[in-house]
Amino acid sequence: MIDLHLHSFVSDGDLSPSEIVRKAKQNGISTLSLTDHDSISGIAEAQLACKQLGIRFIPGVELEAATDISRSRYIHILGYNFNNSNILNEYLTKLREERIYIIMEYVKVLRTLGIYTSYEEISSITSGLHITAYHIPMFLHQNGYYESFSQAKKDFINPSGKYYIPRNFYDVDFIINLILKAGGIPVLAHPCRLPQKNEALDSYVAELTSKGLLGIETFYPEHCNEDVIFYKSLAQKYGLLQTAGSDWHSEKSQIKMGFEFSNEEAIVKSLLNCKRD
Ligand SMILES: [Zn+2]
Ligand SMILES: [Zn+2]
Repeated sequence: MIDLHLHSFVSDGDLSPSEIVRKAKQNGISTLSLTDHDSISGIAEAQLACKQLGIRFIPGVELEAATDISRSRYIHILGYNFNNSNILNEYLTKLREERIYIIMEYVKVLRTLGIYTSYEEISSITSGLHITAYHIPMFLHQNGYYESFSQAKKDFINPSGKYYIPRNFYDVDFIINLILKAGGIPVLAHPCRLPQKNEALDSYVAELTSKGLLGIETFYPEHCNEDVIFYKSLAQKYGLLQTAGSDWHSEKSQIKMGFEFSNEEAIVKSLLNCKRD
């Protein structure tokens, strides 16, 4: 059984990297990848736990990329089996510093509104170590400053919101290139979440492939049979690898870890032997 999309508390999941691995073992998983958002700091622990439990481990990460001119839309690109962590870490450290700076700026804005808080207080509401501007509306809603979470999001993190603080955006070209430079395999995560459907999705995948995309997450809990058939056809058309991931974050979710394939070895081998030049 394979699961190439899992989150630990290094990003926004509930369990530690080794707890995720133990959970995967209980679920009969034989190949896994830990793909925390914008962080690879859980990899060493997950890798060691996999070794101890006899699970094949593939290093992974899930990166956010801005897609359109207004830059208010994002997609997620998974990166697998990279061999140059320094290139990724350089970017991820910069990203984290930028995010901390933005939160501090929001703390100042909140002060002008009579709301006294701190970076520490805002970061304490996350289940994991991952902090983004998204936690500002969460904090405001949870503490009763906003009854409506969506209104808080609109005011604070929507680019047209009255308290929005602009931040750096990283285009999908940059993100795909970064993964390639790190020796990794860029894969389009959960294509069902993209606004493009059918032909529009077909041409978008063609565009991403021309930028260096090498795979598509065909198997995902939210994908219905028709979706899977369509994503398989896109993979064949554009010569993309196909991956499977549950995006498991927490015991609280109803999502089941792992996907069973009769050709598991072939799937894993194609990923491990994928040429990326
Ligand atoms: Zn995602
Ligand atoms: Zn994910």
